Amino acid sequence: MTASPTLSQAVSCLDDYDPDALRVADARRVIERFVSPVEAVERVALRAALGRVLAADVISAIDVPAHDNSAMDGFAVRSSDLDAGKETSLRVIGAAFAGVPFEGPVGAGEAVRVMTGAVMPQSCDTVVVQEIARLEGDEVHVPAGQQRGQHRRLRGEDLRAGRAALDAGRIVTPADLGLLASLGVAELPVRRRLRVAFFSTGDELRSIGEALAAGEVYDSNRYTLYGMLSRLGVELIDMGVVPDRRDALQEAMRIAGDNADAIISSGGVSVGEADFTREVMQRLGDVAFWKIAMRPGRPMAFGRVGKACYFGLPGNPVAVMITFYFLVRDALLRMSGAGERRVAMLRARALGGIRKRPGRTEYQRAVLEFGDDGSMQVRTVGTQGSGVLRSMSQANCIVVLGHDQTTVRAGELVDCVAFDGLL
Ligand code: AMP
Ligand code: MG
Repeated sequence: MTASPTLSQAVSCLDDYDPDALRVADARRVIERFVSPVEAVERVALRAALGRVLAADVISAIDVPAHDNSAMDGFAVRSSDLDAGKETSLRVIGAAFAGVPFEGPVGAGEAVRVMTGAVMPQSCDTVVVQEIARLEGDEVHVPAGQQRGQHRRLRGEDLRAGRAALDAGRIVTPADLGLLASLGVAELPVRRRLRVAFFSTGDELRSIGEALAAGEVYDSNRYTLYGMLSRLGVELIDMGVVPDRRDALQEAMRIAGDNADAIISSGGVSVGEADFTREVMQRLGDVAFWKIAMRPGRPMAFGRVGKACYFGLPGNPVAVMITFYFLVRDALLRMSGAGERRVAMLRARALGGIRKRPGRTEYQRAVLEFGDDGSMQVRTVGTQGSGVLRSMSQANCIVVLGHDQTTVRAGELVDCVAFDGLL
């Protein structure tokens, strides 16, 4: 195993490192350098591999399909028998079904009835679909104009034996499960699940079921984090709410650092609160306090506590989600052993103007939809305050306005990250 870098080694990749004015792209680079994948591998049954990270390439032991076969219901024929200019009559000498091949030879002037998936009978190279063939007794009449090789699937056209069907680092999808099943794979090696401990900090936080006194709020961050982490398929260690006390924070951090690969906390890293968090972190690990040039977001702590990677996110509920998606998510995927997974960005026309200050990356909650002219349009939703979760619920995408970008005028194209695809 390669030794993990210290934070100062990780930040040395930047030309100028200013923890109080860090670009999003630079923070992402440092984080990427700092984290490394879990090494342990376990073997799981095919279905259990859904959403897991492949630990090795899966090599196909067979050709898929294993034989040339018919892609349609119809008649398998020898193209050399067909008359290009007029109808050809052939004698039907048997039938082949999926799983029940026609065993005999097929001579000149002969054809075999075939169903979709049936192995192509010997010497036949072409399928005439039943809708255009005319059957009279045991004679089939084939119209002119058939293409040699039509409606035939070739052996190995999906996958050749010896080739990698899926690469290591792949997160197994529903399509992959089907592909692996088609290769007869019963079991496969995946990386062990990443263990992520998470907790909220703040004396004002109450748990669901408790009454709220003046100034108190329900702890929502642990629920959004639960949701986002669950989608990543990691193992969760929910550590609840940690009060704003040195000893409590230190104890939570110590336990998390002993048991998790990654720790995510929310709150307690903004100016005014950071001082005491900083003191605890200094005692326990190698942690930097950053002010990132982003909105929402900005304060964040990052480093190592015990054997775990630590992400100290801001307290504001929307800031938690944005920093998670744009700074933490890729790091957790990398730690899980996943290969690079770019989020799909698309460009859409802004329906209204969006104020933007250059010198920071801004993330706006928005709704993507098709306009009357069929083009993609995007409009921002609700209040963009970093505590307003409802607009995050209403949104179906985030508009990302780059570091140097200035105010967007209505009609200009902007980059968007959609929340959900088919999954
Ligand atoms: P902090 O960064 O700890 O100063 O928190 C910033 C703001 O986010 C404060 O208004 C907190 O009440 C709020 N906040 C912090 N943690 C949570 C949480 N887990 N759920 C809801 N709001 C929170
Ligand atoms: Mg707080």
